[in-house]
Amino acid sequence: MVTDSPATHPYPASFASRVQGSLMGGALGDSLGYLVEFDDVDTIRERFGEAGLVDLSQAAGPVHFSDDTQMTLYTVDALVEALDWANQGIGADANACLWLAYLRWLATQGEPTPSHAPTPQPRWIDAQETLHHRRHPGAACLSGLASGNMGTQARPVNPDSKGCGTVMRSAPFGLVPHIPAEAVYKLSSDAASLTHGHPSARQSSGAFSTLVHAIAVLGLDLSAAAAAAKERAAAEPNADADLLRRLDAALDLAEGPVLEPEALTAALGEGWVAEEALAIGIYAVLATTAGDISPVEHFLAAIRVAVNHSGDSDSTGSIAGNILGAYYGEDALPQAWLALAEEPALVRAIGAELLRVTGAAD
Ligand SMILES: [Mg+2]
Repeated sequence: MVTDSPATHPYPASFASRVQGSLMGGALGDSLGYLVEFDDVDTIRERFGEAGLVDLSQAAGPVHFSDDTQMTLYTVDALVEALDWANQGIGADANACLWLAYLRWLATQGEPTPSHAPTPQPRWIDAQETLHHRRHPGAACLSGLASGNMGTQARPVNPDSKGCGTVMRSAPFGLVPHIPAEAVYKLSSDAASLTHGHPSARQSSGAFSTLVHAIAVLGLDLSAAAAAAKERAAAEPNADADLLRRLDAALDLAEGPVLEPEALTAALGEGWVAEEALAIGIYAVLATTAGDISPVEHFLAAIRVAVNHSGDSDSTGSIAGNILGAYYGEDALPQAWLALAEEPALVRAIGAELLRVTGAAD
């Protein structure tokens, strides 16, 4: 299990840069993947050529991030609210803040707040128009929140759901400094249960946040952080066998040559469910690591692997982007992509709020 022992980070970046890099990296990976979310690999090749979709400049129109980034920003907002209360000496229930934030997200999607759920107080983020566009929100995220019940491990909503709508919104838990890895895991897995009841949803989210925390806060390198995430997943009572199998496969295959899209999905799944999305994101990052590759080159190579397949390309692109942004900080972000991206200033403003409440601003 990961401990909080100090470590020397193998890539020099400030913590503030890692936070902003992770949020923006996720948004960029999501944006590339969202162009082909529902395309199989043959269709991707027909649309963009044999090499597939390799650059945001290939978008035919304006670039958009999807529900993955929208919900990730709401995760940040919930953590900011809970930490603001904590800074005032008031112990707020962080998971209640997350539920209220996701209920506010539900309202952005044009859905009514369920009558027997609390009516959340509006916050700044709710007025951001870009977050009100429906970008194919996940069915379980919508139905779990629309139930009006606060899902928990003991009393799950959507008990059979393990869609990747949990993992893809969970990087921010790993970006909170000064809390132990185990607290990160619990916050993240409890927040997954707000919409998805299957154990893999909880455990995959917890493992992903553990990985991001191991990189951004503990200073581990990519493979050590991935191993720590797998170790934490394996330590869970009733650890989900599919999650462990996918993580093992991702780590093993990353040692070899980069897989073709067909082989990637045959080995790791298509990413529609939590453990597959996490495995593909981790695989894409580790398989494209090379000795003297620059942060931007690594980022581009990983995102290209993460989105060019027949599966859930925006979520796998988002996860890979979150990881490499946490690792390299903003050095990972291609300037040409930032110039095309949707509202990078909004993503940065929300990241700045997290840095403000954690006392980690530059
Ligand atoms: Mg999406």
